[in-house]
Amino acid sequence: MSAPAHAGLLRLARPEIVELAAYEHAAWEPGLERLHANELPWRIGGDGTEAGLNRYPEPQPRQLIERLASLYSTEPERVLVCRGSDEAIDLLVRAFCRPGCDSICICPPTFGMYAVAARIQGAAVMRVPLERAHGFALQARALLERCGGAADGGRGDLKLVFVCSPNNPTGNLLEEAELVRLGAALEGRALLVVDEAYIEFAQAASLVRHAATLPNLVVLRTLSKAYGLAGARCGALLAAPELVRLLRKIIPPYALTQHSIETVLSLTEPAPLAAARERVAAIIRARSELQQSLAQCPGVAQVWPSAANFLLVEFHDATRVFEALHRSGLLVRDVRSQPALERALRITVGTAEQNARLLAVVRAAGGGGRV
Ligand SMILES: *Cc1c(COP(=O)(O)O)cnc(C)c1O
Repeated sequence: MSAPAHAGLLRLARPEIVELAAYEHAAWEPGLERLHANELPWRIGGDGTEAGLNRYPEPQPRQLIERLASLYSTEPERVLVCRGSDEAIDLLVRAFCRPGCDSICICPPTFGMYAVAARIQGAAVMRVPLERAHGFALQARALLERCGGAADGGRGDLKLVFVCSPNNPTGNLLEEAELVRLGAALEGRALLVVDEAYIEFAQAASLVRHAATLPNLVVLRTLSKAYGLAGARCGALLAAPELVRLLRKIIPPYALTQHSIETVLSLTEPAPLAAARERVAAIIRARSELQQSLAQCPGVAQVWPSAANFLLVEFHDATRVFEALHRSGLLVRDVRSQPALERALRITVGTAEQNARLLAVVRAAGGGGRV
């Protein structure tokens, strides 16, 4: 008999995706001469890659998957490598949500891509806000009460619950016990997707260590933030092997470029990984200095504690500060359209020089003088 808990996972997916025969990409047999993929047989002058850009890259490259599995402390069959975690979000919504029928649940204020991916797919978005009065903490029980009725196994189901930890843009790490409680309560009814784009800056353990007991858990990781590789477009979805196999059917066959594959492999060797950890430590130190300095600036109402590489800052006059920063060449993220953040800006921790410039402008803007 197959594991009953896991059978539930595919039961939640769109039946046409479960039954889909995936595109048969050219066989990957590196030992043989490639006369089967209509590629040119010659390498092009100036091509600096190892494998040759004239060749299609390996789909779901074995070595990269093994590297990411070891980086994220899981098994290779639980890893789907994708073009950033943005692509993973899109794949999940496409595989699970029937247009005009199913829904996702998000906890705003949060990352915008979950709702955008759902809208593109024609899925409904249920919103259970994180409450400012509770420090934007996840309250599993309240969330389950709000969305419990929808996840009842009938038609028009809630399929995916997206949470982000540490949350963007509030910066707080969600409580592990609450996440585990939520995942367990959703089992067999919906997937719990935990986006850990900033977890390295929290110095906390990934929820992936609960994968064995939470078959409906999906963890999203990315190399874009802590590893400084946003331009390489590489992220990973960590989930039960049957879910990884299902999503492999809908990810484009040659999603990652050969450039990205080779770059990520060389920049995740032990030495660059050690350097990455030092940069994360430097950002964490700078975050704490910036947080203290901002808290003392006139015009700043509140600096929220952060477990990420940015700070959520509330101002008495956020428009004034945003415009002053912009005029002096500094872009920060205006998050005021999000619930409970009417006077907040999200500020990424930069270099010492950038942080000093930012502080000078914020001080001047808050002081009431011309800026
Ligand atoms: C930046 C970010 C991502 C996207 O990361 P990519 O891997 O670059 O696509 C995903 N989730 C959150 C919360 C982010 O802030």
